[in-house]
Amino acid sequence: MSILQVRGVSRRFSSTHGETLALQATDLDVAENDFITLLGPSGCGKSTLLRIVAGLDHPSSGEVLLDGRCVEGPGADRGMVFQSYTLFPWLTVLDNVCFGLRERGMPRAQQVEIAQDFIAKVGLKGFERHYPKQLSGGMQQRTALARALANQPRMLLMDEPFGALDHQTRELMQELLLGIWEQQRKTVIFVTHDIDEAVFLGSRVVVMSARPGRIKLDRKVELPHPRHYGMKTTPAFAELKAELTEQVRAEVLAAQRQVA
Ligand code: ADP
Repeated sequence: MSILQVRGVSRRFSSTHGETLALQATDLDVAENDFITLLGPSGCGKSTLLRIVAGLDHPSSGEVLLDGRCVEGPGADRGMVFQSYTLFPWLTVLDNVCFGLRERGMPRAQQVEIAQDFIAKVGLKGFERHYPKQLSGGMQQRTALARALANQPRMLLMDEPFGALDHQTRELMQELLLGIWEQQRKTVIFVTHDIDEAVFLGSRVVVMSARPGRIKLDRKVELPHPRHYGMKTTPAFAELKAELTEQVRAEVLAAQRQVA
């Protein structure tokens, strides 16, 4: 059952340097519980597509339907997690996670109960009173994830959320996110340029072409769940990774030719 439909979406940007066609006639169907990882060369329109689904940007043509209704702006049904830490620096971990619930007018006691549950789920129990600047990058991203999840969104939209983390922290965050997805079966669209990450996390890997971005390949990932990092060394993982590496590499080369 598809909950999100991207129908013929294109996006053209105009600037003093001229026009950029970032996305061209893109179609994508996302089913309930899909974990879509979106790969492609830098500048191919991944973030643009995600921002359009989030309602933070609008297509030049085409439309995005969520549960059959046209997306016209941001909403609590879509939780965003970005690469750079977007926590409110003046709020504690607890108040950052409570933020969306408070905006919805939920009584404080209920906000705190829900927030504490998600803070525990992301492994930050005991850090409720800390401020973002007192946390490591990985802990800040855990907080951002708890904040997005606390709103019980229909979908999680994640734009390279682990891109600024060191390798070990990144692997731990991947496992944490997968564990939460396996438990809660959220629908996720996750932008990354890391092929390992795309295969490890995704139930479908979608590869976009060089600009103007279109869907070039849409591959189901057959690796079983629950997944653990040891699977990264299995032949099935290596085979899919090799195929995707070829596909992405061809697009990176095409993107370089555009610049040359
Ligand atoms: P990706 O996420 O795949 O790296 P983006 O979606 O960020 O790619 O960008 C796609 C293209 O659109 C790039 O050429 C980028 O420079 C251009 N672009 C994105 N946002 C804007 C904007 N607000 N104004 C002008 N050009 C933009």
